[in-house]
Amino acid sequence: GFKCGIVGLPNVGKSTLFNALTKTAQAQAANYPFCTIEPNTGEVAVPDPRMRKLADIAKSKELIPTRIAFVDIAGLVRGASKGEGLGNQFLANIREVDAVVHVLRCFEDDDITHVEGKIDPVADADTIETELMLADLESLERRTEQTRKRASSKDKESVAALPIMDASLKLLNEGKPVRTLLSTLNAEELLILKGLNLLTSHPVLYVCNVAEADAVDGNAHTRAVEAMAKAQGAETVVISAAIESEVAQLPEDESREFLEALGLSEAGLDRLIRAGYKLLDLITYFTVGPKETRAWTIERGIKAPAAAGVIHSDFERGFIRANTIAFDDYIQFGGESGAKEAGKARDEGKEYVVQDGDVIHFRFNT
Ligand code: GDP
Repeated sequence: GFKCGIVGLPNVGKSTLFNALTKTAQAQAANYPFCTIEPNTGEVAVPDPRMRKLADIAKSKELIPTRIAFVDIAGLVRGASKGEGLGNQFLANIREVDAVVHVLRCFEDDDITHVEGKIDPVADADTIETELMLADLESLERRTEQTRKRASSKDKESVAALPIMDASLKLLNEGKPVRTLLSTLNAEELLILKGLNLLTSHPVLYVCNVAEADAVDGNAHTRAVEAMAKAQGAETVVISAAIESEVAQLPEDESREFLEALGLSEAGLDRLIRAGYKLLDLITYFTVGPKETRAWTIERGIKAPAAAGVIHSDFERGFIRANTIAFDDYIQFGGESGAKEAGKARDEGKEYVVQDGDVIHFRFNT
């Protein structure tokens, strides 16, 4: 599955937020028994309003959303790259995630110690980013010499990896995270970068944890974070972890009332889950029928057989074709038969790149 790691300095509200996510997962588990909950991992359903529309047309008995996991990565402190705090364990955990959710303290509370002595989320973001860059720098420097030797004796993998390692090192030496490289790489190079398992190559999302009173409009701290994020091309979500942990305990109708009373149109966690999904650059396709409407998650750019493989490996192995209707066509023409009559159901082959929102029937040999 796809994982977002939650990081941040101590006492910024990571656990509060993570526990709210876990409670949401527990509540969802009644409906979706596949949502598993492990000590530091909460797997949550991704809310997608398109599912209801598809299910209404197809009269599906069940809705099965797709899901992503959030992993609580505790133990990051100043000096982590030198083994302070949970140091190495932390670094190992963060290598396993696909994206990073960085929680920043944007609430004032004299009773809750700030490890750096004052509330300054932009400086905190910098502290964490510096630790991650130092760890990457060290690990790359350790590996580059050997790769350079192997590349000079024409080892193919090393020849391919070396320019990416050098470009990463150059960025880190300039004090920039490796993720600034992402947009310049092709698919093959991205795979190589992924294989390097660097900490600062993951895309990042900033979560501003604010007091209840600031949940609607944010505050001066959140605006500073938003400006910083914007300069990096990153997204920001303003959330009150305290509100979310209360909402997560309420039944759905009560939580809606509670949120409305606070002036909020939806749970912050739903915004966070969707932002996390977007951050992972994932797309959704649907299988729709009277039994169920189900959402499936794939990486952008994947072709039809691999997309079918997400349902079952047999679907990929025996792939024949993908009968495909775009979401908008499915809705506009009132479902499968209407879309077929309008000529909007396409038979796509092995080379078809699945698009977000596609409604697909796979044909396959068993
Ligand atoms: P972590 O160390 O980052 O996991 O932080 P915790 O989630 O354990 O939170 C540290 C302390 O801050 C706890 O006592 C929380 O109850 C408190 N806290 C978390 N979020 C908020 C908030 O939005 N407002 C206030 N006043 N306290 C909060």
